[in-house]
Amino acid sequence: MSVAEERIDRLTELAREASRSGDSDLAKRYVRRARRIAERNRIPLPRRFKRFTCARCDAYLIPGRNARVRTKDGHVVVTCDCGEHARYPY
Ligand SMILES: [Zn+2]
Repeated sequence: MSVAEERIDRLTELAREASRSGDSDLAKRYVRRARRIAERNRIPLPRRFKRFTCARCDAYLIPGRNARVRTKDGHVVVTCDCGEHARYPY
Protein backbone atom coordinates (compact mmCIF):
# COMPACT_ATOMS: atom_id res chain seq x y z
CA MET A 1 0.00 0.00 0.00
CA SER A 2 1.37 3.42 -0.95
CA VAL A 3 1.49 6.37 1.42
CA ALA A 4 -1.36 8.01 -0.49
CA GLU A 5 -3.48 4.87 -0.20
CA GLU A 6 -2.79 4.70 3.51
CA ARG A 7 -3.84 8.33 3.94
CA ILE A 8 -7.05 7.71 2.02
CA ASP A 9 -7.72 4.69 4.21
CA ARG A 10 -7.13 6.71 7.35
CA LEU A 11 -9.31 9.61 6.15
CA THR A 12 -12.09 7.15 5.29
CA GLU A 13 -11.94 5.81 8.83
CA LEU A 14 -11.97 9.33 10.30
CA ALA A 15 -14.95 10.25 8.11
CA ARG A 16 -16.83 7.19 9.34
CA GLU A 17 -16.12 8.04 12.97
CA ALA A 18 -17.15 11.69 12.48
CA SER A 19 -20.35 10.67 10.73
CA ARG A 20 -21.19 8.13 13.42
CA SER A 21 -20.76 10.71 16.13
CA GLY A 22 -23.06 13.08 14.25
CA ASP A 23 -20.50 15.56 12.90
CA SER A 24 -21.45 15.36 9.24
CA ASP A 25 -19.58 18.55 8.25
CA LEU A 26 -16.33 17.16 9.60
CA ALA A 27 -17.00 13.87 7.82
CA LYS A 28 -17.47 15.75 4.54
CA ARG A 29 -14.15 17.51 4.99
CA TYR A 30 -12.38 14.16 5.42
CA VAL A 31 -14.18 12.74 2.38
CA ARG A 32 -13.15 15.71 0.21
CA ARG A 33 -9.56 15.49 1.41
CA ALA A 34 -9.43 11.80 0.49
CA ARG A 35 -10.84 12.56 -2.98
CA ARG A 36 -8.18 15.21 -3.55
CA ILE A 37 -5.38 12.85 -2.56
CA ALA A 38 -6.70 10.23 -4.99
CA GLU A 39 -6.88 12.80 -7.80
CA ARG A 40 -3.45 14.22 -7.17
CA ASN A 41 -1.86 10.79 -7.06
CA ARG A 42 -4.03 9.42 -9.87
CA ILE A 43 -5.06 6.39 -7.87
CA PRO A 44 -8.55 4.92 -7.77
CA LEU A 45 -10.64 5.38 -4.65
CA PRO A 46 -11.17 2.13 -2.76
CA ARG A 47 -14.49 0.35 -3.13
CA ARG A 48 -15.41 0.98 0.48
CA PHE A 49 -14.91 4.71 -0.06
CA LYS A 50 -17.11 4.77 -3.16
CA ARG A 51 -19.88 2.78 -1.51
CA PHE A 52 -20.04 4.81 1.64
CA THR A 53 -19.68 8.33 0.34
CA CYS A 54 -22.18 10.44 -1.56
CA ALA A 55 -20.94 11.56 -4.99
CA ARG A 56 -23.05 14.71 -4.78
CA CYS A 57 -22.68 16.10 -1.26
CA ASP A 58 -19.60 14.17 -0.01
CA ALA A 59 -21.44 12.82 3.04
CA TYR A 60 -20.08 9.67 4.63
CA LEU A 61 -23.13 7.42 4.50
CA ILE A 62 -24.32 5.40 7.44
CA PRO A 63 -27.46 3.39 6.68
CA GLY A 64 -30.21 4.26 9.15
CA ARG A 65 -28.60 7.55 10.03
CA ASN A 66 -28.10 9.59 6.87
CA ALA A 67 -28.79 7.02 4.16
CA ARG A 68 -31.43 4.49 3.19
CA VAL A 69 -30.53 1.18 1.65
CA ARG A 70 -32.91 -0.92 -0.42
CA THR A 71 -32.46 -3.85 -2.73
CA LYS A 72 -34.13 -3.78 -6.11
CA ASP A 73 -33.77 -5.96 -9.20
CA GLY A 74 -30.45 -7.42 -8.13
CA HIS A 75 -29.08 -4.03 -7.13
CA VAL A 76 -28.44 -2.32 -3.85
CA VAL A 77 -29.81 1.22 -3.98
CA VAL A 78 -28.34 3.67 -1.50
CA THR A 79 -30.16 6.98 -1.08
CA CYS A 80 -28.41 9.85 0.66
CA ASP A 81 -30.33 12.43 2.70
CA CYS A 82 -29.51 14.94 -0.07
CA GLY A 83 -31.57 12.87 -2.52
CA GLU A 84 -28.69 11.31 -4.46
CA HIS A 85 -29.09 7.63 -5.37
CA ALA A 86 -26.29 5.18 -6.00
CA ARG A 87 -26.84 1.69 -7.40
CA TYR A 88 -24.52 -1.27 -7.11
CA PRO A 89 -24.94 -4.83 -8.29
CA TYR A 90 -24.85 -7.41 -5.49
ZN1 LIG B 1 -25.63 13.27 -0.57
